Amino acid sequence: MNARQPNPDSPARSDHDRYLANTHEVINQPPALQDYNLFDQDLALQEAARREGADGSTPALREFGALAGAACTIDLGFRANQHKPVFNSHDRFGHRIDEVDFHPAYHQLMTIAMEHGLHSSPWTHPGQGAHVARAAKYYMHSQVEAAHGCPITMTFAAIPSIRNQPDLARDWEQRILANSYDPRNVPDGQKASVTIGMAMTEKQGGSDVRANTTRAYPVGTEGPGQAYELVGHKWFVSAPMCDAFLVLAQSRGGLSCFLMPRWRPDGSKNPWQIQRLKNKMGNVANASSEAELRGALAWMVGEEGRGVPTIIDMVAMTRFDCMIGSAAGMRQAIAQASHHCRHRSAFGARLSEQPLMQNVLADLALESEAALAYTMRIARALDNQDQDHERLLTRLATPVGKYWICKRTPNHAYEAMECIGGSGVMEDCIMPRLFRESPVNAIWEGSGNVQCLDTLRALQKEPETLDVFFQEAAEARGADRRFDQFLTQLQQDFGDTGDIQYRARNLVDRMALAMQASLLLRHSDPAVADAFCASRLQSNGGLNYGNLPSGTDAAAIIKRATPVVG
Ligand SMILES: Cc1cc2nc3c(=O)[nH]c(=O)nc-3n(C[C@H](O)[C@H](O)[C@H](O)COP(=O)(O)OP(=O)(O)OC[C@H]3O[C@@H](n4cnc5c(N)ncnc54)[C@H](O)[C@@H]3O)c2cc1C
Repeated sequence: MNARQPNPDSPARSDHDRYLANTHEVINQPPALQDYNLFDQDLALQEAARREGADGSTPALREFGALAGAACTIDLGFRANQHKPVFNSHDRFGHRIDEVDFHPAYHQLMTIAMEHGLHSSPWTHPGQGAHVARAAKYYMHSQVEAAHGCPITMTFAAIPSIRNQPDLARDWEQRILANSYDPRNVPDGQKASVTIGMAMTEKQGGSDVRANTTRAYPVGTEGPGQAYELVGHKWFVSAPMCDAFLVLAQSRGGLSCFLMPRWRPDGSKNPWQIQRLKNKMGNVANASSEAELRGALAWMVGEEGRGVPTIIDMVAMTRFDCMIGSAAGMRQAIAQASHHCRHRSAFGARLSEQPLMQNVLADLALESEAALAYTMRIARALDNQDQDHERLLTRLATPVGKYWICKRTPNHAYEAMECIGGSGVMEDCIMPRLFRESPVNAIWEGSGNVQCLDTLRALQKEPETLDVFFQEAAEARGADRRFDQFLTQLQQDFGDTGDIQYRARNLVDRMALAMQASLLLRHSDPAVADAFCASRLQSNGGLNYGNLPSGTDAAAIIKRATPVVG
């Protein structure tokens, strides 16, 4: 037959085209988890906010939840991470500018955070529920994009340290607390709002900052509030476009804290120079840098030689935010995993109804809720620092929680990624970003061991912190036999101080578990509390997620954690 003649047995040409174009219909894929309300769809968050004192903020939290869950906000997170910040040392004429160029999406995220007071609200409107409401917002915003939380946290956390120097606080506080964002690289005097960073870590030591070699030379009179010039290097300076930094440097009287602006008051560039940006595995939307200080003007904050106690007021707050950030990472991970499994079927049933997947999902949900409950309890303690119990609890529970919650996050992210399967590994899914972000909070602001050692320091300096911790945990006594036994054993083990540094992780792990169990027993769904006690307080030998014992009401736990979208 002539090739040009249509074959009467083959389909008509238009049908043929259609078969070629339509390879298949997309089925068994979940809808995108977007355009949902991160507050309304998070029962544990709603309950915690109400319980810990932020009931009055419900409308604002709901409004913020809708903003955080909007597809366009979620998209900002992806774009800010796709386009890494770029460092420009000089302008085209050869002037030193030390400028970092961010994608506009990063600036939009910063704008949202600052306009909603994530850096300011508990200081501008202190009182019942202030830290709780702010933590809830931070928790939601961090689920969208975590990296820009770094400058937000540092700006927020700088306030208690700067207040150690009232004259400097008078100059800076109002602008630090302004609910607006001004990213311009211009002298702070021209700005109505500023951001603050911190520069402690040097090449030879980040945990042991007493080894800092950066020197501070007085410009005139020496002492608190006076001007110095700083000479040295810093190995990590995150968010280097901040308008000023709290810096540790050695003055004549020892290691002291300084406030170092980006520009001098006369409008000239302050001579601290970014050497390069860090090539980070995670937290990439935020820039971190190495810097050299070449006579940078700075003012002493707080007492000379008391730099660590001065800056520790800031560090205590950043450690608290690490808890919120890691709890948020876990919440977003379980939201993604449970949403996916609700919509995806395999072997004839939805994944969320397959018994083994139920075990994994419920276990991930427990970890996430326990992290949130602990974090929000500390938020309430921060709102009540005038009460001894709350102050002592904050002192001990902060390093315990920072250590435990941040350290639980990486494996949680990995398991949630696995629930989604191969698509969970792809960069157009948020899971790779959550996974790469997950170790960061554990390492900065005092790594794991340092938190455990700080826990011991607190016990040594203020032994009553332990009484308060156990008093609080014991409020759940009688609710669960396993919990009672666990708490009794832990208390007994504190009686033995031999080898205590060597055993510190074991003790701190169990302190965190005891407090989380206590909170869940008192306040959460009975299915959650029961599964937590069964899986965390009693060893059945299994170490991976998915080790909840038979009899656990996994379906109830999963239902509680699953956002309903689509
Ligand atoms: C992305 C990123 C951004 C950062 N941004 C900043 C910033 O803006 N400003 C800033 O000042 N720093 C910043 N850092 C630095 C960070 O705070 C330090 O890396 C951290 O404190 C650890 O210090 P190091 O890296 O020097 O490690 P080291 O101090 O050498 O510690 C290494 C390990 O030893 C452990 N260790 C230390 N002492 C003891 C001990 N006595 N017993 C047992 N174990 C111990 C630590 O827990 C850690 O696991 C940043 C770090 C990262 C990763």
